[in-house]
Amino acid sequence: MNKLGVHSFIWTAGASNADAERAIGLTAEAGFDLMEVAAMDLAAIDVAFIRQTLERHRIGATMSFGLDADHDVSSNDDARIDAGRQRLLEGIAVARDIGATHVCGILYGAFRKYDQPPTAEGIARSVEVVRHVGEVAAQSGITLGMEVVNRYESNILNTAAQAVEFVKRVDLPNVLVHLDCYHMNIEEADVAEAIRATGKYLGYFHTGDSHRGYLGSGSINFSRIFRALVAIDYQGPVTFESFSSRVVGQPLEGILGIWRNLWEDGWDLAVHARAYTLAQMKAAQEAANTVARSRLS
Ligand code: MN
Repeated sequence: MNKLGVHSFIWTAGASNADAERAIGLTAEAGFDLMEVAAMDLAAIDVAFIRQTLERHRIGATMSFGLDADHDVSSNDDARIDAGRQRLLEGIAVARDIGATHVCGILYGAFRKYDQPPTAEGIARSVEVVRHVGEVAAQSGITLGMEVVNRYESNILNTAAQAVEFVKRVDLPNVLVHLDCYHMNIEEADVAEAIRATGKYLGYFHTGDSHRGYLGSGSINFSRIFRALVAIDYQGPVTFESFSSRVVGQPLEGILGIWRNLWEDGWDLAVHARAYTLAQMKAAQEAANTVARSRLS
């Protein structure tokens, strides 16, 4: 059974302990198994408090973040690559200390719109850093998810096929592909086919609709997506990610282009997303049973 999660920005963009207490409490109350901690500022995370609060509410954690231009491990600049490696290792240490099982996001390059394609050397440098960080993460039982995002947020991993090739080059069992419906809807020829082709390399999954608002209120065909997840027997986390100008602030609203208020009430949004996801998963599992239930007597 997949663990269901919710991104912390459904609740708050704040990083205070009061914000964390509220976000974790609402995650538990809404019935989720885990919260994805958006680690915008690693130094701001009170690891002991977060760990205790997660344990008190019996909620698991994953963590996500992206590197910036000064920490771009896909650049050709040694200083930036070293800084990026350090940032990733700091992220793994924070994840370990809060008890996170997965670290995902744009860990292989900068989270920004590039104005140049990647270089072969840059990709090779990125693979080397991710392999090193992946080995460190494995010591704490942490899986890394290389998130495939649209062309305005990375110049390296825009399709699932690119991410499969990337993680094959890294060649570690705990470094896997992280797919996100919102991004796939922009870049893939066929979202469900991309999931099936990723297969055993899929390690983390983000749900989100075409406009990143209420799940099911956009143009994405979730029936095909969940049937594909069932077909590949995906057992990892399924985390709902949504952004509204109601909650998200800078710098994320600028990078992601969150200009519209897609929802006011994160509670209503999250409770609906969980129910919708469970219904889609159940329907997909039953669809997979159709052949077995079609035998002539
Ligand atoms: Mn995502």
